Parts: sequence; C-alpha cells; structure tokens
Amino acid sequence: MGGGDESRIARVRTWILVSAIVVAAVILAVVTYRTTFQLEAIRAQAVFEATLGLADEKVDRVDRAIVEADDAIMALGEPRRPDDVARRWRALGGRQTPTVAHVVIFDNSATREIVAFASRTPSPADDAMRLLLLRRIVPDLDLSTLPLGQIKHLHRAYDGVFILVTYYRAEQLRPDGTTRERLVIIHHDRDAVARELLEQVVPDPRSATARVNVVDDEGRVVFGPPLSKSDLIVAKRFPTTLYAWRLQVAPTASSELADKARRRRLLEMSLLALSCVVVVAGVVALLLATAQERRLAALRGEFVANVSHELKTPLALVRMFGELLMTGRVASDEKRKQYLSIIVHESERLTALIENVLDFARVERGKAAYDFAPADVPGIVARAVDACRYRAETEGIRLETKVDDGAPFQREALVDERALQLAVINLVENAIKYAPGTDVVKIEVGPPRVSGSDGSHVEVRVVDRGPGIDPDDRQRIFERFYRGKRAGERQVRGSGIGLSLVQHVVDAHGGDVAVRETPGGGSTFVLKIPIAGPPS
Ligand code: ADP
Repeated sequence: MGGGDESRIARVRTWILVSAIVVAAVILAVVTYRTTFQLEAIRAQAVFEATLGLADEKVDRVDRAIVEADDAIMALGEPRRPDDVARRWRALGGRQTPTVAHVVIFDNSATREIVAFASRTPSPADDAMRLLLLRRIVPDLDLSTLPLGQIKHLHRAYDGVFILVTYYRAEQLRPDGTTRERLVIIHHDRDAVARELLEQVVPDPRSATARVNVVDDEGRVVFGPPLSKSDLIVAKRFPTTLYAWRLQVAPTASSELADKARRRRLLEMSLLALSCVVVVAGVVALLLATAQERRLAALRGEFVANVSHELKTPLALVRMFGELLMTGRVASDEKRKQYLSIIVHESERLTALIENVLDFARVERGKAAYDFAPADVPGIVARAVDACRYRAETEGIRLETKVDDGAPFQREALVDERALQLAVINLVENAIKYAPGTDVVKIEVGPPRVSGSDGSHVEVRVVDRGPGIDPDDRQRIFERFYRGKRAGERQVRGSGIGLSLVQHVVDAHGGDVAVRETPGGGSTFVLKIPIAGPPS
C-alpha cells in the first residue's frame, strides 16, 4: 500500500471520527435540552395536580357542609308536613345548621303567601329579608322543572350582596285531607358561611403550603387574601351551592419555585452550551493538530531526501578527485593542487552541512545551549564571509563586506560567536545559492538603518541581487523545512532548515531577522542583534 493511500485512509478515519463526535455531541445536546424541559413540565404538572387536589378537597368540604345542613333541615319535616320545618328548626337553636339564617315556607300557589318564617336571631332586618324574598328572590327561582322534594340552590348577587338560598317543593297535607303545595326556602347567611366554612378551608397563611381565597364571578375577592397574578393559580367552582364563586389555590412560593426552575434551566442550558463549545473547540484543535502533523511529516520526509542529496554531491566530488589523485596519473602539480583544494572545500561544505543538521537537531530537542561573551561583530561576520568565499568564487560571485562606522556604532556585543557565524554563513550561502549569475553579494555591518536608532543594536545585512522572494513565501521561509516555491522550481538544493536556524539564533540573542526587497531587485536579509545581549 502506498503512502498516499495510507494518508488518505488516515484522513477518512479522522473525518469519520470527527463526524461521529459532532453527531454524538448534537444528540447529547438535544436529549439534554429536551429532558430539561420535560422534567420541568413534569415538575409543573406535579405541582399543578397537587394544587388541584387541594382545591377539589376544599370545595367539596364547603359544598358538602351546606348540603348537609340542607338535608338536616329537610329531615325535620315529617312527610307531607313541611309547614313544621320552620318551627322545629327554630327549636333546634342552630345546632347542625350553623350557616342557616332563615327558613321560610311559602304557599306555592299564585298568591305566594308566606306560611311560616323562622329567623335564627329575630330582628327588624328580617322584614327586609322577607321583602327581598317575596319581590326578587322567589321570582328568580327555577321551579317549573323542579320535581317535588328535590333540593336546588340559588346563588346570586342582589344589590351587590351575594345571597345563597336552598329551596325545594313539598306537599302539605291539610286537615281536610287535601294537599297544598309549599315552597321551602333556606337562607344561608353570607357571614356565617364565611365564618363557619370558608375560614376552615383557608389555612393560616404563615404555616400553609398554599394560599387560598374565594372570588366572585368577576374575579373580586370575597374571602381570603389576594393572590398575585404571577403565581400558579388553580381555580375551582363550588359545584352545587356557592356556584357564583370560585375557590382559588396558589401553592405558596410558587413564584419562588418558578424562579428557581428558571435559574436551574439557565444553568443547565449554559452548561450545555459550554460543553458544546468545548466539544467544537476540541474537534477544531484535533483537526488543526492532525493537519499540522501531516504537514510536518511531509516536510520531514522531504528534508531527509534533501539532506541525503546534499551529502551525496560533495561526497561524490571528494571521492572522484581523491581517486584521481590515487591513480597518480595527474600530470601537473598545479592540477593536483586544484584537486586537493576542491577536496578540502567540499569537505568543508560537508562539515558545514552536517553542523547545520546537528545544530538543527539540538534546537529541535530544545538542547541548543548558547555561550554569550563580548565579541567583535564585524570580525565574526568577516570570518563567516571567508568561509563562503570559495563557493562564491566558483559561482563567479564577489563577496563585498562593508563595515559602516557611523557615529553611534559599537563593534563589540554580547553574542555567541559560533552561533552568529553560523547564521551569517547560512544567509550568505543562500544569497550565493539563490542568486546565481549575479556578480556581487554585499554584506554590511553597522548600526540599524532606522531613524532614531539609539545605538543599542548592531545590524548585519546580506544583500543580493537575485530573483528575490515571492511575497507569499516571505512569511513562511523562516519555518523549519519550508522551502520557497522558486527553490523547488529551479531545483536549487537545500533542506529548508537554514533560515529556521537563523531565526532560532536571532531569537536566542533577543534580536530579530527580517527579509525585504533590495531596491532594484533581490533580497536583503537583516539581522538585528542587541549589543547588551539577550534580555535576562
Ligand atoms: P534552503 O535554502 O535549504 O531551502 P532555507 O531555510 O535556508 O532553506 O531557506 C528557505 C527558503 O527561503 C529557500 O527555499 C528559498 O526559497 C528562500 N530563500 C532563502 N534565501 C533566499 C535568497 N537570498 N533569495 C531568494 N530566496 C531565498
């Protein structure tokens, strides 16, 4: 299987993994989101149901109490003697029927006369009640469809006051054996209903788990505290008796509960969002890392190929001229000298290359150690240039060194001599390598050429008149293993580590390196080194 296939498989695997992670994260997010809201709904439902149960129970209690009182009164009358009910009820003195204020018996004929009128506490107000019953309440009763002996209720406001009456039809057996129809009306006193019944179902607000009140059909509170609109409120009508009113129940702290739920939901949603962000960030980081890894692997492979190639060429030359000399057939002394000098210089190149690779390896392992000492920078540069001279001459290129002795220039700086020399050699060799066919490479040493320079730095400029560097490449040529587009096109030998070494050396010195275009064409590399050495 080829390397291309393998990397394609690796890429497919990465993408499958990434897609799976993203899908899993999305599913997780959706499920969590939905569960949060479902839980919330279940919680709300539970509170609602409990409240409803409470309301049901209370409404039932009140309803039942009134109906029981009605039944008790109805039971007082012997069959067919309803007229006795009023009297007997009076005789009871209010026991069993605490809410009843009046029991009134009408002759249920066209005249509707009052046959009996009993009041719990007789008073002048009874006359008003009598009138109200005769004039307004009795006409409002729904008697046409009411079977004999069946109880019905009327609950209605008269002049703004709610009146609750129970009524039923009954037959009175007269002494002559005939019967007359009666209408029995039981009036439940509003205050007594409140006192005896509602007060029992509206709990003490300080200890209760729910607040309860009673409102009329227009929502006005008739009993109990007001309930705030924001609360969860369950309303329940009294089914048979006080049907114009509703009982309302709000769980205490329902707004607090809602607040808490809102806060919890917010927290859960934030955590969910955060996890999604982390997953996405993780996936992006993973993708970037694998892409970077792949790129580095490719570059490394190229590097090995390039270095082997660079080693092979000088070795081949050394071997060829060495063998020539060994045969002893080289005629002139001059030729012999020339061959020997080639051998020496090619070995020097080999040494330089190997040194470069070794230094690079040290840098890569983070083991590059620098030894800073005061040294004469123009002297170091001169020695570096000398090392390149033979190579330049064979290419027909002159190396021109110029020391700029302008006013605030100090020759001596705190540097690592060997490292700085290596950096300069790399720059000069590149200039020779990438600017073939030109006649001169200039190496300038001096103070930085920027206005306001304070003499704290020394600059080394390597100026060639070659083809220059593609603007796209300018950012990247200092990366390890990176080789410019033109280098590849024109088959210039190299390994892509030279400038990354330069960058490292400069960084270690606390300086910087930049490349710009030489006016009129070509590249100018500028090393800027602080005289005082690297910042501690
Ligand atoms: P190498 O020379 O082995 O390729 P370097 O790190 O020394 O590696 O250089 C990186 C790239 O920078 C080169 O491949 C080349 O494209 C470009 N480069 C460096 N110096 C010059 C120069 N003086 N002129 C043009 N291009 C250059």
